Amino acid sequence: MTKDIIAALATDSTWLPLGCLQDNYAWRTAIDSRAYLVDPGEARPCLDWLQNEQLQLDALLVTHRHADHVDGIGELIAKWPDAQVIAPAEYSGREVTRTVAAGDNIELADGAIKMTALATPGHTRGHLSYLGAGFVLAGDALFVAGCGRLFEGDGNDLLASMEVFRALPEDTQLCCGHEYTLGNLAFARLVEPDNQLLQEFCQRAEKLRAEKLPTVPTTIGQELAINPFLRYDQQAVIASVCHQAGRQLSEPADIVLGLRRWKDSL
Ligand code: ZN
Ligand code: FE
Repeated sequence: MTKDIIAALATDSTWLPLGCLQDNYAWRTAIDSRAYLVDPGEARPCLDWLQNEQLQLDALLVTHRHADHVDGIGELIAKWPDAQVIAPAEYSGREVTRTVAAGDNIELADGAIKMTALATPGHTRGHLSYLGAGFVLAGDALFVAGCGRLFEGDGNDLLASMEVFRALPEDTQLCCGHEYTLGNLAFARLVEPDNQLLQEFCQRAEKLRAEKLPTVPTTIGQELAINPFLRYDQQAVIASVCHQAGRQLSEPADIVLGLRRWKDSL
């Protein structure tokens, strides 16, 4: 995607995390009194936010069909039956009002929110991320210092997704679906023990978590410096993966898959 297209998507919305369930984040924004949510895995925190801020739910977006991202939808739509529910085809909930696919544009709040759906397969085959206004809502495709498990995809899918994120402007805010940061950082340090920026980020993240604060959002630029799955072309990452696998790997798809299998084995 070119920078021109991304600039054209710039709008006023600012997405903020909303803790759901154990370690999920839904993402929320509001324009005037209209509210927008991504991946409401639990209704209660969303209902509390809407009530406290006296907002009307206008639309919900879904990145993928897993229960911890969609289970709040029924209750929310029971209260706001006119709200749009925008989801990839893999989610078959009866509340869906619009099915979207990669490349589709989404306009909400009379055009104040403009987003484009991006294909980010691997965690699920039909997983979408939503890009707009300098934010990428990445669901379980990309986490701070990590990525989602490959439930339905292979190394090529994971690589394709990582390429989507690597191509975004570095100041893009990464909004992900879980607070998995400390666990991911422990793995990232195994892969790149000599990455100084990674050590520094660990200290910041540990401090935030000690105060029970979210480590999200980060930026794509930050992730390019610390996230091993985005750093598959770095010599230190390749050397670690090959050492772990006990053989020479050179294809990027094999490197990202090797990283994912290594993390899964811990
Ligand atoms: Zn998931
Ligand atoms: Fe999830």
